[in-house]
Amino acid sequence: MKIFNTLTGRKEEFIPLEPGKVKMYVCGPTVYNLIHIGNARPMIVFDTVRRYLEYKGYEVNFVSNFTDVDDKIIKKAIEEGVDSGVISERYIRECKEDMAAMNVRPATVHPKATEEIDAMISLIDTLIEKGHAYRAEDGTVYFRTESFRDYGKLSHKNLDELQSGFREIKVTGEEGKENPSDFVLWKPKKEGEPYWESPWCEGRPGWHIECSAMSKRYLGEQIDIHGGGEDLIFPHHENEIAQSEAASGKEFAKYWMHNGFLNIDNKKMSKSLGNFFTVREIGEKFDLQVLRFFMLSAHYRSPLNFSAELMESSKNGLERILNGLDKLRELEGKKTEDSGLTEEEKNWVEEAHGLTAKYEAAMEDDFNTADGLSAVFELVKLSNSTAGESSSREYIGYMKKNIETLCQVLGLVTERKAEVLDEQVEALIVDRQKARKEKNFALADEIRQKLLDMGIILEDTREGVKWKRA
Ligand code: AMP
Ligand code: ZN
Repeated sequence: MKIFNTLTGRKEEFIPLEPGKVKMYVCGPTVYNLIHIGNARPMIVFDTVRRYLEYKGYEVNFVSNFTDVDDKIIKKAIEEGVDSGVISERYIRECKEDMAAMNVRPATVHPKATEEIDAMISLIDTLIEKGHAYRAEDGTVYFRTESFRDYGKLSHKNLDELQSGFREIKVTGEEGKENPSDFVLWKPKKEGEPYWESPWCEGRPGWHIECSAMSKRYLGEQIDIHGGGEDLIFPHHENEIAQSEAASGKEFAKYWMHNGFLNIDNKKMSKSLGNFFTVREIGEKFDLQVLRFFMLSAHYRSPLNFSAELMESSKNGLERILNGLDKLRELEGKKTEDSGLTEEEKNWVEEAHGLTAKYEAAMEDDFNTADGLSAVFELVKLSNSTAGESSSREYIGYMKKNIETLCQVLGLVTERKAEVLDEQVEALIVDRQKARKEKNFALADEIRQKLLDMGIILEDTREGVKWKRA
């Protein structure tokens, strides 16, 4: 299996640190708002990488954090007049809901920065002890970039050039730096902000140290794969390398993977440009499986331009696969006896094996999901033209299983969502009214929740109960 490694700028054979196991860390979102579909790209990409590694038999330990202390979270908390924990907890919950709707599996661990402060303090301590970090007069702790020879190796930048670049930008409040490229590990608290005790001052961690500390805590000093969007290469990942490697003296991550941007009108989709759609908004117009299909129809390193037309064609593509599976399920339902594969079917099974091999070859070439999907389409086409009333049960079962498995590795749900019928809703509303009349409010609430889970929202009005689909 080959992976494009940003560190070396080449596709390299994947060799895990420990045979059969993969340790993987992916930088997660800062939780101050609903995630947009640009943020969804790394989620879908790395969930697919993980699924494929598991399909190959690896045991994957996958860690992805939530950054729950940050200026933007604090700003929002002040605006709403609540504690910043209220904001971060709300958006962690919303993010997990969006992930589930995109069939992105929860990571093995989702650490939250605010719960890992001790690990960060201890890492900063080590860096100071080894001369890689220093405390300025105001209590800020900076990383000493000049002490780390390899600084710039990921982004292929040269420290001298960086220094002069940084010298142009004067950041107020950072006068205590030895060098312009030094970055913050710990900063003093400001009025009204969350803070923690530390040996240097009451304050909070810088963003970069979070990931180095959490990765070390849950995966150890060395990991196989570190991922994120390409905007994280510099400075975030460069700084993670500096912190982790200066502290441990070992190579931090072997393979650095970065997804390309999701664009709109060829510009990066981002909160700051205001040119974004939230996953929630897209979910109102499309099944989020369509979004997943759309993301996988391009190679993860290529830029991908979002458009309604491409979403429509993704919808059709997904429908073609589901129709193929519907047909196989219907045929399977009619078969009662095993009759064994016919000679002709054996040949088609051979052909299907060839297509599975093609799919695997695409995925092993730096996770080329676009080519992987074309192999799935060829398989559906083969199935549509060969499976019928006269096919053996084995053949139908084989084709069905094969298509399902390859889709599931891509995280595409192969079952159709059951339609919630009006009659079902009406019947449950009658049950709830009855429970209320009998003062069984626990049951009434339970029914309301059940309807909510089915995507049905109830409104108690003066004219009686009204309902609508979420
Ligand atoms: P943030 O919350 O901005 O730190 O972003 C969380 C993740 O989403 C990071 O891995 C970013 O690189 C990634 N990301 C943000 N915007 C985009 C985009 N337009 N296309 C692809 N990835 C993105
Ligand atoms: Zn990170």
